[in-house]
Amino acid sequence: MNQNNQLTTPQSTYDVLVIGAGIGGMSAAIYLKRAGLNVGMIDGNAPGGQLNKISDIENYPGYAKIDGPTLAYNIFDQTMKLGIKYIYGKVVTVINAESEKIVKLENEEIKAKAVIIASGRKPRDLGLENEKALTGRGISWCAICDGALFKDKDVAIIGGGNSALEGALYLENLAKSITLVHRRDEFRGDKILVDRVLKNPRLKVLYSSVVEKINETDGKLSSIDVKDLIKNENQNVKIDGLFIYIGFEPATEIYKDLNLNLNAGYIIVDSSMRTNIKGIYACGDAIQKEMYQLITAAGEGALAANSAIKDLDI
Ligand code: NAP
Repeated sequence: MNQNNQLTTPQSTYDVLVIGAGIGGMSAAIYLKRAGLNVGMIDGNAPGGQLNKISDIENYPGYAKIDGPTLAYNIFDQTMKLGIKYIYGKVVTVINAESEKIVKLENEEIKAKAVIIASGRKPRDLGLENEKALTGRGISWCAICDGALFKDKDVAIIGGGNSALEGALYLENLAKSITLVHRRDEFRGDKILVDRVLKNPRLKVLYSSVVEKINETDGKLSSIDVKDLIKNENQNVKIDGLFIYIGFEPATEIYKDLNLNLNAGYIIVDSSMRTNIKGIYACGDAIQKEMYQLITAAGEGALAANSAIKDLDI
């Protein structure tokens, strides 16, 4: 890592602070730094965001196939080599003060002339009893992070989008049995992934089915009660691992002091990634948009940076 980078003791004033070091935030930071701005990038987790949870990426130009953590590392390494300041910390609020933006972390505050929000969104949960208590005790939201814990064990995956399908295909090499539970009678993921799942005899699919109850034994996940909505029948499925991939929801509560225009919690931006607040930009999964993809997040990061560069005119 470049010695000029500060991991824990940030300076207190920047031209632009980027909140979130996923692909959108890191792309924005690269464009800002190359334009000669003093840029800080804040994240409370490992750099890469959702990238760290993706096993195989096959739709990012330049890579026929790459795993998410490697792409995350490559981009983060690029930011470090450019000398972008990485600030580890959790943002609790952002204040739009008269002459500056104040980003408050848990233990400090940092100031900037402009802020780019690239903090993504959070995985949705089922809202079932035991779900939170059994997280880390059989329940996971990330096959690539936790899959190895379920080698030769029985697992179920809930969801019918790309994340669930990719999770199932990743676990196929590890788990003893894999059951996909999807609430409708067809998947919503990309055709190429759906075909791979349907062709794989090791992947069992329960369509039109919902998990009604998560059961535990001695503090660990032991089974799920699954209801077939067509037959109106219930079955108990014994599993050691449950992967929940039922999509995402916005995580923009920390920005409430900014009075941003939101749609169902997602930040509304114009085509240049400007929000309704001067000097505040947003990109990636935090915004209201059509496609939640790596390539769109990267492009939006570049656009947000370009708008900040133009508006600051430094
Ligand atoms: P998603 O596309 O929103 O799919 C969520 C799935 O969970 C849907 O099948 C949905 O069912 C189901 N679901 C939602 N709420 C549920 C509930 N309460 N109970 C049971 N099932 C529920 O989410 P995602 O798969 O995480 O993907 C998110 C975004 O990232 C998408 O835009 C996706 O294309 C993208 N992504 C892309 C790739 C790739 O390009 N390789 C990989 C991963 C993710 P319904 O279908 O009935 O609504």
